Amino acid sequence: MIKMQVVADIGGIPGVDCKGFCKYCYFKKVKETEPLGCVSCSPGKIGCSRCGEELKESKNNFKLPFAVMSEVQNTLMLGNYRDQNLKINISGGGDVSCYSHLNELTATLNQFGLNTHLGYTSGKGFDDGEIAKTLINNGVDEVTYTVFSTDYKLRKEWVNDSNPKESLKALKIFSENIEVHGASVIIPGVNDGDVLLKTCSDLESWGVKAMILMRFANTTNQGLILKNAPILNDVKTHSVDEFKDLVKEINSQFNLRVTGTPVFDPETNAPFAIAKSGNEIYLQFIQDVTGEATVVSSKIAGPYIAKIFEKIEAINVNVISTEKEIACLITKDDLEDIDLSEVKDTVIIPGRSFVHSLDAERIFSKDGKERIVGRGPDKLSVDGEMSGTLTEEQVIEKELEEFRELVQAINFFGMKKR
Ligand code: SF4
Repeated sequence: MIKMQVVADIGGIPGVDCKGFCKYCYFKKVKETEPLGCVSCSPGKIGCSRCGEELKESKNNFKLPFAVMSEVQNTLMLGNYRDQNLKINISGGGDVSCYSHLNELTATLNQFGLNTHLGYTSGKGFDDGEIAKTLINNGVDEVTYTVFSTDYKLRKEWVNDSNPKESLKALKIFSENIEVHGASVIIPGVNDGDVLLKTCSDLESWGVKAMILMRFANTTNQGLILKNAPILNDVKTHSVDEFKDLVKEINSQFNLRVTGTPVFDPETNAPFAIAKSGNEIYLQFIQDVTGEATVVSSKIAGPYIAKIFEKIEAINVNVISTEKEIACLITKDDLEDIDLSEVKDTVIIPGRSFVHSLDAERIFSKDGKERIVGRGPDKLSVDGEMSGTLTEEQVIEKELEEFRELVQAINFFGMKKR
């Protein structure tokens, strides 16, 4: 039975609370910028904590363990989780392995009968690999470990890891004893090719269950929205198709549950399993599209969404794919680039995009035509980080639920006059 996970946020600032920046960290070079605007802002004011400080994770020092514990206890009390099979996922803006109270926090959670998952740690704070045994004794039974490579010289250089042999030793101990998901940001020419094959082969032999491959983003349209592109000069990133092929190749060669982000999961066909040919049968569960609207999405998701609307013959809906590759990271700049002659009277923008409604309404009325702007659901599919824990049926179920929400928004905001 899959355990429900409750997050214990330990706080921390990227680059500061993780022993210095990894070379490829997306928080490097972040500039002071005005908040971008988003769904959580108040209606009349652009900017809130979600699209300001939280996005940059720049103001959140590591918290003391009693503060983390009391937040967990509050969540558990308010969430009425009494009969649930629970696990606590320890994560934060800093690196979990660099949290000096990790031993104490896991031991305390263990006293309450709670097992823990160390969510996304690079392990570079583990100066002595044997710490893994103590943490396992404290009830840590799952770790998501950003490996980068099992070549310790590469880890030293790229992860800024001063004790790479020890952090890899910790990874090996975790892998041999508990559930470990490996994760690696893939930098072409650095940790792909033979280096990646060796890394996956080591992880497989140590007993790692899953591997998440993350495509390195280096430009604004790939998702660096904090004015910090490029992170690395002279690095040409994988195209989406190249990356999809890489994921397929690694999946076919190793006995690991391999998924990629932003694409692709070979086992569940996420993202957008419902768009896959052969899965048309599921589309009957999407209600009739009675409204008329333009759906704005990303370069990656847009073509999938268009295909689904085409298959369900929703002739009054068109989809515009912006240059931004990830829909949740669309900003007002992406909307500015849209050709308004292609935009209908109603526009649906991605729910979580970093655009305030005031900006969206202004941009979509620049040609003198006043348009209605609505928001779609937070997500329309699941990425590799999530889909790796799901079956294809569960992915399809989620996608149908989310697509139904999108159609509901189209039918509501884009209601046709009779
Ligand atoms: S450990 Fe994570 S947050 Fe810290 S510098 Fe590396 S990539 Fe950034």
